[in-house]
Amino acid sequence: MAVITHAFARPETDYTALPTAIQDQFDQLMEEADIAGPATYPGLMATIALLVGLPNGEIRKCACSCYCGVIFDSNRPDAHVIKHGEGYNLGRHQYPTCADRHRETA
Ligand SMILES: [Zn+2]
Ligand SMILES: [Zn+2]
Repeated sequence: MAVITHAFARPETDYTALPTAIQDQFDQLMEEADIAGPATYPGLMATIALLVGLPNGEIRKCACSCYCGVIFDSNRPDAHVIKHGEGYNLGRHQYPTCADRHRETA
């Protein structure tokens, strides 16, 4: 299925390009989101999205075994799910381009 997406900016950012303080905050918020419940999870996701400058969504860092550092919205239809989250625990997702190059399995 060919979809023309050039007019649509695909929101993603590069973890490795973020200042160290933001990286630390991101890591900490992701850890909190991983153990959050339904009351706190949406707020944490919104904070993370704002922190890295992405639209609100299911923000994940690519779970590549290489170190690519792509931060993206794992709700996008072409995201590769390595492992589904359980309850409110975060799953592991791979950025589409990475999944094309070297698809990871759980
Ligand atoms: Zn990779
Ligand atoms: Zn990757």
